[in-house]
Amino acid sequence: MALFVCSRLIAENRPFPHDVRDRREGFSPLTPEEVRALAVQDITIGSHTRTHFDCGTRDRDQLMGEIVGSRQDLEAMLDREVRYFAFPGGHRENMSREAMAIASSAYRHHFSAHGGVNIVPAGALRHLRRVSWPSSLWELELALQGVLEMDEPASRGAPVGPIGPSGAGDPRASRAHETA
Ligand SMILES: [Zn+2]
Repeated sequence: MALFVCSRLIAENRPFPHDVRDRREGFSPLTPEEVRALAVQDITIGSHTRTHFDCGTRDRDQLMGEIVGSRQDLEAMLDREVRYFAFPGGHRENMSREAMAIASSAYRHHFSAHGGVNIVPAGALRHLRRVSWPSSLWELELALQGVLEMDEPASRGAPVGPIGPSGAGDPRASRAHETA
């Protein structure tokens, strides 16, 4: 199991900016001690930038701080290597070409959330595609079988449409991801 965290929000005990914006209160971040306790119980801790930063920007200095800096923060916090990175939002517009290149050089794997199929051998892939949080067991079953992504192999790299009632194009899906 992997948990992706925002290093600076944890260090400064700040809630997610989108929770503040949407007036969702009471969602305190994990403390550094809690993250360390999870890591020693073999929960894989990955980076989710420092501040839940939108990596759609092409500003290299900002991207380096948020993507590489968060890795340094977490490695200092946990005293272990941090190999994985998940883009906040995780849709194509949240991942500029510059951000993809930086994440690719700083981490073993980076994760999007816009759906799609990971073509084996997965070990050779730097970018692993996640699907949105399914809203029901039925949707999960369809997603696991790839039924909702059937057009993807033929159009690899092309935009993928919503995967169902709470697919990637649906704001509810990104909220579920953000608060999960
Ligand atoms: Zn997020």
